[in-house]
Amino acid sequence: MRNLALLPKAHLHLHLEAGMSTALLVELAQKYKREVPVISGFGNFAAFSDTYVAATDVLRDRDDWELLAEDICRSHVEDGAVYLEPAFWAGNYRHIFDSDEQCWDLVFDVFDDAARSSGLELKFMVPVDRVKDSPDEAMALARFAIRNRDRVVSFGLHNDEVGHPPGDFIDAFRHAVDGGLLSTPHAGELESGQFVVDSLDLLNADRIGHGVRSVELPDLLERLASERVCLDVCPTSNIMLGVYPDIASHPLPQILAAGISCSINADDPILFGSTLLGEYEVCRSSFGFDDECIAGLARTSIEFSSISEAVKAAAFAGIDDWLNSDSN
Ligand SMILES: [Zn+2]
Repeated sequence: MRNLALLPKAHLHLHLEAGMSTALLVELAQKYKREVPVISGFGNFAAFSDTYVAATDVLRDRDDWELLAEDICRSHVEDGAVYLEPAFWAGNYRHIFDSDEQCWDLVFDVFDDAARSSGLELKFMVPVDRVKDSPDEAMALARFAIRNRDRVVSFGLHNDEVGHPPGDFIDAFRHAVDGGLLSTPHAGELESGQFVVDSLDLLNADRIGHGVRSVELPDLLERLASERVCLDVCPTSNIMLGVYPDIASHPLPQILAAGISCSINADDPILFGSTLLGEYEVCRSSFGFDDECIAGLARTSIEFSSISEAVKAAAFAGIDDWLNSDSN
């Protein structure tokens, strides 16, 4: 069996702080004499929220952020990633920083350093929090993202879809797309495939976070394939949040069979126990994908990333080398 860690890949759907390892969470929780919550159940996001709150709560000074950046970059190099596009929402740190920009400056700084020293390419997604951000705040985020186009490549839409349709944020997404950013909203996870349709029609989506419930609309599958929209799929997350009861019910094989481009991602590793490499292992062990198919998923992740041309060419060559290598 070929070693999946040696397959070059890009991680396109990762919520930044949730990329913290459990070891770092424990270390920082000790520093601040804070309890580490135990995840006691799953099936809905509330069961995980204490852990997410803990991860954000232990990021207080520059040292903490440096440790997080090193932690995330190190684990991604181990998983065979060559490119990382984490999404970060600065609103959780308003009690520490004078402005979201000040928080972002620190994040840019520490992740630039960590990515450079680990040989990773890293660009950011600026997401709108569809529950907490008003349309005006979303527009301010779009302006911020465009001002920072050297580090930001995509504009996302996160948090619970229910009650927060894509149509609430048309102006901000139009501004972001006009400014040269990729449109990468979450859709079709906790809400129906219609939210994917609306994300295409109203937000000009280039990639969709999740999008798995597109299978409920056969015409939509055809459209996603013909318009070459990538779904940034996170199988373990979908099971942990109860979108599907088990991996055997997950529609990824059906989506791929419909000719749709999909990347494989971990979403919130510290919440779901997922890793980028682990999700590729799920593709092999649970979906039974062969190495040709898995290499195709890695190729898609690179193709739909904003990686520089030289690194992209090297990654494609590395994927071919991996497939050509001895499988034993
Ligand atoms: Zn997500």
